[in-house]
Amino acid sequence: MQIYLDNAATTKMSKTAIEAMLPYMDGIYANPSSLHLLGQQANEALFHAREKIAGLLGCDAGEITFTSGGSEADNQAIVSAARIGEKQNKKHIISTAFEHHAVLHTLERLEREGFEVTLLDVNENGVIHPRQVAEAIRPDTCLVTVMYANNEIGTVEPIAEIGQICREKGVLFHTDAVQAAGHLKIDVKEQNIDMLSLSAHKFHGPKGVGALYARKGIRLTSLMEGGAQERGKRAGTENIPGIIGLAAAFEEACENIDRNAEKTTYLRDMLIAGISEIPHSILNGDAKKRLPGNVNFCFEGIEGESLLLCLSDKGVYGSSGSACTSGSLDPSHVLLAIGRTHDIAHGSLRLTLSEENTEEEIKYTIAAVKEIVAYLRGFSPVWRDCVSGKKDFIIK
Ligand SMILES: *Cc1c(COP(=O)(O)O)cnc(C)c1O
Repeated sequence: MQIYLDNAATTKMSKTAIEAMLPYMDGIYANPSSLHLLGQQANEALFHAREKIAGLLGCDAGEITFTSGGSEADNQAIVSAARIGEKQNKKHIISTAFEHHAVLHTLERLEREGFEVTLLDVNENGVIHPRQVAEAIRPDTCLVTVMYANNEIGTVEPIAEIGQICREKGVLFHTDAVQAAGHLKIDVKEQNIDMLSLSAHKFHGPKGVGALYARKGIRLTSLMEGGAQERGKRAGTENIPGIIGLAAAFEEACENIDRNAEKTTYLRDMLIAGISEIPHSILNGDAKKRLPGNVNFCFEGIEGESLLLCLSDKGVYGSSGSACTSGSLDPSHVLLAIGRTHDIAHGSLRLTLSEENTEEEIKYTIAAVKEIVAYLRGFSPVWRDCVSGKKDFIIK
């Protein structure tokens, strides 16, 4: 038995993506900058992949830059907006407290350079109100960056409304759409998005490849010195197989977006209902405004790590938060941002589904989580104190 419920960390590659990539490893392996025929064939494939992705996002091919993934796209978007801003003496950036570290750590670096960063509070449900953005914008604000969907608790942010506010105030708007792309609809024009990051391995594409959309006229800063690939915006020989895999996986995900969302949402709600029966447990993040595949709970008196290891022994592969924080003892900054205490944040479990999961798998998982939580509470001193009344339950 092997039940993979860690799709927010990465997904299994689809057959479509693998098959699309193979010819570019085996036959058309040339460098797309080479002038000979094989090089031109590789270059043509690159051209078509860019067109395809642009079509799916509602933008022009010239507005797409390929990167090594979501992290690089986030870095490049934010640094570029900062460089544009500082030329106009605008050195204020708005974001939220629960962004991915690719965003938060880039912002910290800019702060050390003299930028001022306002991190908006995400409310207890993990959703910000567009009004918070409107109120935080100042004459010297050069960028608003708010994620489309959170990678830990799956909450979906009001991107189009935030984009409209930014448009009206003449402030650039970037969204980290790494969790949303291929799972939620994207139309960069309708949603007033100036810059957007996505990553192939979060929608059944290969790891190590992503894309940055930047609206025409926004000058991207190159993060690396080297050749003139990607119109001078991203040096280094293009990852042709990866880019082909990205385009194929993205097309497949977008074509099936409604059906996949319906199936995954059904399984998600079944899993949430089952786990909610555990006493003194709480769902993290809004129950409705969340990704179709995201389930995230905290349990009183439980260590998240122990829970994960016991689940793994039973063949259920989940996570305690983001892949970036697992292995560290710090509680998730996302759970702290929605107001969970340190103790409670340590007892978290993230189970993220894909359309490939089945009802049987979900039923098995619910039973496994119930059994393990009861077992671990059996020798938890915190739990004993709560039950004996020495300590109050934090999760009612
Ligand atoms: C996974 C993820 C990233 C990082 O993407 P990589 O391709 O792994 O670099 C950034 N932001 C969010 C929201 C993510 O889920």
